[in-house]
Amino acid sequence: MLLRNGSVTDVDGSRVADVRVGADGTIAAVGPALAASPGEVEVDVTGRLVVPGGVDVHTHFHLPVGQVRVSDDFLSGTIAAAIGGTTTIVDYVTAYRGEDPLAALATWRRWAEPAVVDYGLHMTFTEAVPERVIADCVEAGVTSFKLYMAYPQLLQVDDDVILDVMRAATRHGGLVTLHCENGGAIEALRRQALAAGRTGVLEHAATRPAVLEAQAVTRAAALAEAADASVYLVHLSSAPALAAVREAAERGVDVLAETCPQYLYLDTQRLAGPDGESFVCTPPLRDPWHAEELWEGMARGTIHTVATDHCPFTVDDRRAGTHDRPGGWADFTEIPGGLPGVETRLGLVWEGVSAGRITVADWVRLCAEAPAREFGLWPAKGNLRPGADADVVVWDPAREQSLDADALHMHTDHSPYAGMHVHGWPELVLSRGRVVARDGRFVGEPATGRYRPRLPRSR
Ligand code: MN
Repeated sequence: MLLRNGSVTDVDGSRVADVRVGADGTIAAVGPALAASPGEVEVDVTGRLVVPGGVDVHTHFHLPVGQVRVSDDFLSGTIAAAIGGTTTIVDYVTAYRGEDPLAALATWRRWAEPAVVDYGLHMTFTEAVPERVIADCVEAGVTSFKLYMAYPQLLQVDDDVILDVMRAATRHGGLVTLHCENGGAIEALRRQALAAGRTGVLEHAATRPAVLEAQAVTRAAALAEAADASVYLVHLSSAPALAAVREAAERGVDVLAETCPQYLYLDTQRLAGPDGESFVCTPPLRDPWHAEELWEGMARGTIHTVATDHCPFTVDDRRAGTHDRPGGWADFTEIPGGLPGVETRLGLVWEGVSAGRITVADWVRLCAEAPAREFGLWPAKGNLRPGADADVVVWDPAREQSLDADALHMHTDHSPYAGMHVHGWPELVLSRGRVVARDGRFVGEPATGRYRPRLPRSR
């Protein structure tokens, strides 16, 4: 296939050029006025952008959460991803306490088989692990390790475990990703709220204040500095947390930060509405001024990636809650948390380009290039150089797309962006040279995505 005359934008800049997709599913050539080969399909993409497929390094498909389950599996979730222009996802495996991490990895590998775009997996540890497990994960292509500083009952680990895993991961070319919130302090605030009879949805945000996110970011950066390790902070949500990243980066700590579209577009007041429970996510939605700071952090490079933390539920499952109670959840601690987003990320971040907050180059870097580089998918993903996988998005900046639930393909009946339109959407999406989405419709086949072992980092 030959994509003619598009505005090609990737790590090598922006230029009007042709892109040749080779029969082997890789980029064969990029340049002006390429000569057509016999039998080659030519597609005129004048006036559209041609960019590397999106890389979403934070998804949760198929995941059980208490008595309910995330409403997208790897098939529906990757179909939605493809339609929205994301051609690689990295999902989080969790090894719960007492579980064998490699057995958990095998479970997720099985769940992921129906995927329609390429995928990798991160590993979450919820307790100390022998270094051999980290080496085995890296050997299996899992080169990033998530640890939680919150959720003491289920997930949280102490600083000694964080520092041990940082050291061991670094020795094997792995990267630690951290959920930064002070879990102990939040537990106290939650207990106090429940004891005082404050059980409503807004308490979810009130008991997880930004200052406890910022304090955990500072602690995470200190641990990385002491371990001589890099660290990647997932779903940064607030201005104080961003300030803590900047402060650590300025003294030379290699702190990589991710944010998500929900923190750029949605605010705490959503939790007060009639469908407030459908806006529960962690960290919680903040007041609107935080978003202004996050956009600026994206433009300045303090924030490196935009991922989604895609973790959708249906309205019924949300109301039912994580505990099996007649009438549904009894208080805010029983509402399953997480938002849909894998389909809408590129469109929502593109709105920031239209608004002049970030550049087209920033958009490509935040959504494709940087996540590919930081998570061992480069140079196969995140760029359009010859030899890279032909994961290509033809982006139509003139296409208006509704973000109502029934206009999207994620398997949920609630859209946090209902009523909103974005102005820019994929016209054509290729995964390793195969057309998987065209004009907002999935046209691929199940189980054509491949597991991508990720490369160790070199320092
Ligand atoms: Mn997550």
